Amino acid sequence: MLIEVPKVKEAFLKKIEKIVGPLGYSSKNLDRLNYARDSSFKATIQMKYAKVEHFPDVIAWPRSVDEVQKLVKLAVAFKMPVVPFGAGSGVCGGTIPVKGGMIIDVKKMNRLITLDTENLVVEAESGIMSMGLEDQLERRGYTLGHFPSSIICASLGGCLAARSAGQLSSRYGKIEDMVLNLEMVTGSGEVVSTRNVNNSSGFDLNQLFIGSEGTLGIITKASLRIFPQPRTRAFRSVSFKDMPTSIEAIRRFMQLGVKPAVVRLYDELDTLLLVSSKSTGGKIREHGWSDKIKEMIKFSGLKAMLHSPRLLNASGKFFSRQCAVIFMFEGHEAIVREEKEMVMDLCLEMGAQDLGEKPARHWYENRYRVSYNASPLFHTGHFTDTIEVAASWDRVPLLYEKMVQAISPHAMIMAHLSHVYTDGGALYFTFVAPLRGLKSGEKMYDLIWEKAMKTCLGAGGTISHHHGIGRLKAKYMTDEWGEGLALYKELKNYYDPHHLMNPGKLM
Ligand SMILES: Cc1cc2nc3c(=O)[nH]c(=O)nc-3n(C[C@H](O)[C@H](O)[C@H](O)COP(=O)(O)OP(=O)(O)OC[C@H]3O[C@@H](n4cnc5c(N)ncnc54)[C@H](O)[C@@H]3O)c2cc1C
Repeated sequence: MLIEVPKVKEAFLKKIEKIVGPLGYSSKNLDRLNYARDSSFKATIQMKYAKVEHFPDVIAWPRSVDEVQKLVKLAVAFKMPVVPFGAGSGVCGGTIPVKGGMIIDVKKMNRLITLDTENLVVEAESGIMSMGLEDQLERRGYTLGHFPSSIICASLGGCLAARSAGQLSSRYGKIEDMVLNLEMVTGSGEVVSTRNVNNSSGFDLNQLFIGSEGTLGIITKASLRIFPQPRTRAFRSVSFKDMPTSIEAIRRFMQLGVKPAVVRLYDELDTLLLVSSKSTGGKIREHGWSDKIKEMIKFSGLKAMLHSPRLLNASGKFFSRQCAVIFMFEGHEAIVREEKEMVMDLCLEMGAQDLGEKPARHWYENRYRVSYNASPLFHTGHFTDTIEVAASWDRVPLLYEKMVQAISPHAMIMAHLSHVYTDGGALYFTFVAPLRGLKSGEKMYDLIWEKAMKTCLGAGGTISHHHGIGRLKAKYMTDEWGEGLALYKELKNYYDPHHLMNPGKLM
């Protein structure tokens, strides 16, 4: 692999060194290679074939808002693109330096600044890792309630910038629901701070910056609502005969005002692969074939079966014939008891089979593991990715059907519904296809995404519930935002007048 020479001059590096010190920056090739990609799967396909499209020229690790401000002002003076970097767990190419320039990685700004136990508010620097923040809160008896599957490898700033959702979002909300105020260094190097949102003094300025994906500036700290640690937890699981019935049941109990911490509905193929017959005491298995199909899909048979993905997807559905739903409730004992009863009564009335506690407990104990199953697939000559979209309840069943139909001819496709609210929920698709070479792999990857995004927009869905837009989905933002795009362009001109902040992302 040939790594192009950095375009920065020695004089520029000397100025960076003055701001962050000799160990606070690097233009070494190894560092430039490490920061050339995030965790997006297209970059993983390319990396497998030693293809790297874009390198940063220099990486800086500031320790304070003052240093961030000086770095941005320096970049403005030299007309150098700036890419804010949290932890690189983004899956949409959000940190890929498409125009080179300077990566500003805030991971050294990782302090929990204050914990206000009277008002239940925590203030922290944006480079703190989500797991580190949660650990510190839990040790004192609190929780943020934000548990993305990437909790060990995502920063607070990255979660805010990409509008992240944790696994318990149905109870605690998404990250944007937790923010009281934040601080950001804009693209012109000014520091802006927003005020507490519990007021009606105009509109909520926080929401201008949450989800801005580093295109307006660099978030340096935030204050967030926290909660007391839950006193108790309860687990239940059921299965329904099909997706439409399960979706309808979930809609009904969410609209009763129940707030389970976790609701995850798996489609037939996902049920077959993920919910083990052992964990349900055999209840999830209707006949002996399902385990055989599962073994074939999981091991050597997958490649052969992917010659005919449509058949594979159809047989998964045929042999499973059920959709598992797992629930976790948490909080005060009385509320947990009541919520569990209401949910279970409604599900059983609608024909669900009670699978007991085990599948839900099994999920809870392994909740951060499943996301890291991609490596074995890449090693065995496949590629995979996940597509998370969302819709209102009236559109969820059709969106699910259409997305499966669109992807089914090209890849193994399965989905679960999670992050459910009173007005709708998010569908999370996982696809797997054979990787037969760089060019054909990239082509197939792009085709699947193109079909998925167009299908989603056509079915009235939104193209992202929590992974954000990045580079991957930027070209669909005109359809997604409509007239909102003009407003964003004005904001961009105002906060990033030189258009140096994270070029090529979000639109
Ligand atoms: C295995 C796995 C599981 C995942 N599970 C989830 C999940 O459950 N829920 C979920 O929401 N996401 C999930 N993700 C996606 C990812 O973790 C989130 O998008 C997360 O918010 C990214 O955080 P990060 O710190 O790694 O950001 P990065 O990848 O570093 O950056 C993401 C974007 O935010 C910008 N950015 C980063 N920091 C700042 C800052 N301080 N100021 C301004 N802009 C900034 C970057 O420029 C980029 O555009 C998962 C990813 C992986 C790999």
